[in-house]
Amino acid sequence: MELLESKEKILLEELCCGSTEEMLSVSASDSVVLGVCMNAGCDYTTDVEPDCDGGHCEVCGTSTVKSPLVIFGLI
Ligand SMILES: [Zn+2]
Repeated sequence: MELLESKEKILLEELCCGSTEEMLSVSASDSVVLGVCMNAGCDYTTDVEPDCDGGHCEVCGTSTVKSPLVIFGLI
């Protein structure tokens, strides 16, 4: 849980500082958001649908990419 919490903190910081505008513009134009691999130590990110829960990580080879909206329970 500690690893997950630290990753959530990083995601929150990214969402709050800097990438919010980018995220909003991307969401508005293409209906995709920046998904993040939830595996510890993996920084893989990719465009996913806002409700993505279990997208494919090309680094880990696992279905661990989640939309931040899913991670934070916003949808
Ligand atoms: Zn990964």
